[in-house]
Amino acid sequence: MTTNLLEFDLDGLAAFCERLGEKRFRATQLFRWIHQRGATEFDQMSDLAKSLRGKLAGSAHVQGLPVISQHASNDGTIKWLFDVGEGNAVEAVFIPESDRGTLCISSQAGCAVGCRFCSTGHQGFSRNLTTGEIVAQLWFAEHFLRKHLKTEDRVISNVVMMGMGEPLQNYNALVPALRVMLDDHGYGLSRRRVTVSTSGVVPMIDRLAQDCPVALAVSLHAPNNLLRDNLVPLNRKYPLAELMESCNRYLEHAPRDFITFEYCMLDGVNDQPQHAQELIALVQQYRRPGVWCKFNLIPFNPFPASGLLRSPMARVTAFGKLLSDAGIVTTVRKTRGDDIDAACGQLAGDVKDRTQVVKRIAQQRMVMMAQVPSVVEPPKGV
Ligand code: SAH
Ligand code: SF4
Repeated sequence: MTTNLLEFDLDGLAAFCERLGEKRFRATQLFRWIHQRGATEFDQMSDLAKSLRGKLAGSAHVQGLPVISQHASNDGTIKWLFDVGEGNAVEAVFIPESDRGTLCISSQAGCAVGCRFCSTGHQGFSRNLTTGEIVAQLWFAEHFLRKHLKTEDRVISNVVMMGMGEPLQNYNALVPALRVMLDDHGYGLSRRRVTVSTSGVVPMIDRLAQDCPVALAVSLHAPNNLLRDNLVPLNRKYPLAELMESCNRYLEHAPRDFITFEYCMLDGVNDQPQHAQELIALVQQYRRPGVWCKFNLIPFNPFPASGLLRSPMARVTAFGKLLSDAGIVTTVRKTRGDDIDAACGQLAGDVKDRTQVVKRIAQQRMVMMAQVPSVVEPPKGV
């Protein structure tokens, strides 16, 4: 068995090369070939010594994830479904905007947190992704898009860990993957352009502050413990006060940053004026100089098993206005890629068990084949 080099951050790759008797600068060259050029064949890597290429051929490979399907929306959003084996699939979504290209990626197959409004949560937990499987989503999307758009320039400027899974429950694989994204020899993304979204794993928020303080989004969804216990079961372990305090500590490591609070708007559940007032009171308890938090109101993406409905748009706007009037910066998330079900975590929209995931994957394969002329050029297997 040879080693997949997508599993390594630069330090990991340097240690691997050292075991082959090679110096660190060789690892840097190799890392650049893989991540900046998308190379998979050691023979392509013309500035590496032939002897090193030989050693690599015997001990390593560069292997992405098989692409099950690719759907392109009319608004330019593209969703890929990747096979991670044993009937499990994870998704990544590319969202182009005029000033940025954002890739939303997954950290786990399924999720153990089990939020009521989340289709991934309803699916249950299968397994953690490895560092290589997290990185492979970015590696594939970036190089696929460059080829498709016929450009050598970077296409993906922002990464958000808002696909399937709870990234802070897969911490050991997550941190090296973040380092690959930030590394100047890798994707060279700035700390503020990489966002970890969490349902509130407090001890890991503290560790992330120490190890790799990227932008933090916290999925709040409720202004009090009673409601949040119900919507985000992890709240029973790390209640709101602890969560808010960990946000405060996070900002001590990243003083000019802000926390984004995500708030999924559920009809009649958490979208009333009194909820907005409670949120305002909660935020005001943690007053800091400048803008320390922003709210992002997310129109709920309904799926039948949730038994929940999306708040009417007028209520979302009214809720946002209450927060803004109290001086809290608030945005409403645009729904993108609606026609391809591209909202994060929406893959398993009507999935009740894993057998159905497999069925659905098979269906999507067929959909993809039927759609090839209408979608962008299908990926040539990686
Ligand atoms: N586990 C992490 C990151 C993945 S979920 C977290 O919970 O933050 C990314 C975001 O999508 C979270 O804010 C989550 O609450 C939201 N989300 C999940 N299901 C949704 C749905 N059906 N409609 C709208 N937003 C949803
Ligand atoms: Fe997991 Fe996030 Fe979905 Fe909650 S919202 S179940 S934490 S993926």
